[in-house]
Amino acid sequence: MKALVYTGPKSVEIRDTALPRPKPGEVLLKMQLCGVCGTDIGIHSGTHPRAAAPLILGHEFVGEVVEAGARFARGQRVVAYPLLSCGACHPCRTGSPHVCTGLRSIGIDQAGGLAEYLSVPEDMLFAVPEDMDNRIAALVEPLAVALRAVEQSRLGLADRVAVLGAGPIGLLTALAARQAGAAEVLVSDIDPVRLALAGALGFRPVDLRQDDLSEQVQTATDGDGVDVVFECAGVGPAARDMTRIARPGGTICLTSLHKAPCPVALLDIAFKELRLIGSRVYTREQFRRSITLAQAMAEDLERVITRTLPLSGSAHVFDLIAAPEEADVKILIDCTA
Ligand SMILES: [Zn+2]
Ligand SMILES: [Zn+2]
Repeated sequence: MKALVYTGPKSVEIRDTALPRPKPGEVLLKMQLCGVCGTDIGIHSGTHPRAAAPLILGHEFVGEVVEAGARFARGQRVVAYPLLSCGACHPCRTGSPHVCTGLRSIGIDQAGGLAEYLSVPEDMLFAVPEDMDNRIAALVEPLAVALRAVEQSRLGLADRVAVLGAGPIGLLTALAARQAGAAEVLVSDIDPVRLALAGALGFRPVDLRQDDLSEQVQTATDGDGVDVVFECAGVGPAARDMTRIARPGGTICLTSLHKAPCPVALLDIAFKELRLIGSRVYTREQFRRSITLAQAMAEDLERVITRTLPLSGSAHVFDLIAAPEEADVKILIDCTA
């Protein structure tokens, strides 16, 4: 079968690989669509701490059951909770296996869904509702990241929100925050295409190349500052800004993965009594609810998908992502083509 294989830093290839043979408890899936995300970009760049070549990428996918298992019939479309926990560490023993100290994932530590077929333990699968489009199902995983961030923040009805970074996770977080009742959502970035999309989705775009973020927040909140900041950019300037724009008593939720330590105004956190909370992936239950959420938000989610590539022609996907003139937001790979 064909698969998109990470073969070493800055290198991926479409390879002909062996068809996976399901182990006991696993079912074989015929892949339909699979998203490409920031983690895949990190793996491709060669800086991911765990991913080792050769590796079939992909952890955001929707597939079709090839042969019936114990719970799923043949032909049933499914999405997979992709996280594997050790079961023995403190978080695993105390009900938080998604922050397992040895957390592993499909598509990072073992073969993923950017292939024609993938074998997955049946207990990791969730049924896709019959009336849900595959394109929306492929966004269930990244939407679960946004869902967790919103729940970690304890966002309240009519809260005012700033989302730093208008990449897929930033935009999905803004959408989830609005769905959860946020009244006003500012979204900042430096990319004009992403900002235009943020505006088209009904958010207040802040173009950091020309606008002053603090000023824009002051204007939008009558000088109060926002109730919740979602840091989804992962760059130093965002870490600097996040404490400045939160109102006293506000919350900062960190979803982005800062690869290196960066300066943060801790004085703001103390003086304004800010709450700084991390958010990592999602629980199984949040992943399950993300399916329902995706269905409710389908129309907006559709607009975040800016390109679909056939698997057979996907070897240049990371070149596309790196090319600023292409200006993609979410790219899906059609594993049937
Ligand atoms: Zn991802
Ligand atoms: Zn563990």
